[in-house]
Amino acid sequence: MQYRKFGQTGKDISALGFGAMRLPSQTVDGKTVYDEEESIRMIHRAVELGVNYIDTAPYYCDGQSEIIVGKALKGIRDQVMVSTKNPIEDDSGANAIKRLEKSLRQLDIEAIDFYHLWGIGWETYTEKIDKPDGPLEAVLKAKEQGLIRHLSFSFHDKPENMIKLVDTGHFESVLCQYNLLDRSNEEAIAHAHEKGLGVVIMGPVGGGRLGAPSDAIKKMLPGMASSAELAMRFVLANQSVSCALSGMSSMAMVEENAKVADNKQALSDDELKNIEISMAENKKMADLYCTGCNYCMPCPNEVNIPLNFELMNYHRVYGLTDHAKSQYAKIGEADGPSGKKADACVECGLCEPKCPQKIAIIKQLKETAAALG
Ligand code: SF4
Ligand code: SF4
Repeated sequence: MQYRKFGQTGKDISALGFGAMRLPSQTVDGKTVYDEEESIRMIHRAVELGVNYIDTAPYYCDGQSEIIVGKALKGIRDQVMVSTKNPIEDDSGANAIKRLEKSLRQLDIEAIDFYHLWGIGWETYTEKIDKPDGPLEAVLKAKEQGLIRHLSFSFHDKPENMIKLVDTGHFESVLCQYNLLDRSNEEAIAHAHEKGLGVVIMGPVGGGRLGAPSDAIKKMLPGMASSAELAMRFVLANQSVSCALSGMSSMAMVEENAKVADNKQALSDDELKNIEISMAENKKMADLYCTGCNYCMPCPNEVNIPLNFELMNYHRVYGLTDHAKSQYAKIGEADGPSGKKADACVECGLCEPKCPQKIAIIKQLKETAAALG
């Protein structure tokens, strides 16, 4: 296992982190039941293979993740750093502490190593967090009391706002999105690293998109076992990155990811350049179809045109067909994205004149429905 300096925390972190957001489960009588024993075995195996960072959160796995991680920690607590998160629901410091206490109870530990203000952006920070008697004051006090060892934030906002959050000087690490398909945080990641923060990456394999087999992606670097390997090695080739989290749902994933994180041979400059060129070419192809500008919306029949085309591009441009199909199936479902699938188009023609790319939307939607439906 490779280890990297975790910012200025004085800790070394494994290049692979165990994300406990997709623990193995099965559906019984319409309900999701998590396989606690297998989850614990997987966490123990990951630790055996050198993983020393486990990331959980209160709502992961229907609220079961922290509890299962807590059980897995028995006997190995001193070998791992535990990360969990505070969902900032309001501007009350007292409420933030109640949530912290609940996490400590569920994990059954005395202190959280890396405590994240969860999924924040600059607006949430200024309007809810950095307030008199607000969550920031409360968690900094909890840190003084030893309930938290390091304060962190996880981030879903514009990259320039990540820089602002880093520059507040309150945080010791950041958890953010970065992968082959989405490199928008690259500069902000470099900035965080320069400022001494540890950088943990979520979604290194594109939220599963890059985990599906894809010849188009594998072609970029012949010899890689899978798109997931390429995706993970791409993230780890960035020296500003401390750790790549993978949400693991099977023992096979634990073994495969650990093997990739074990590979100390960084991608060469030529390999990185090759990836860059191929991705740029793919992107150009994708842009030809749809830029996601939304000008064609709203559709009177609620077809989510840009999303349907985005998924079609995953299939057509990147060869990520399994992922595209599974996401397509979720459009309009209770737990899925809003709007309707391509097959709901009634061919009224209102959208087409509004598209600056002059896309034959009706025809493309038909192709999308045929390919992904
Ligand atoms: S042509 Fe289809 S997608 Fe376009 S606005 Fe009409 S129903 Fe919606
Ligand atoms: S207007 Fe055209 S390019 Fe923009 S989202 Fe709609 S289909 Fe895509």
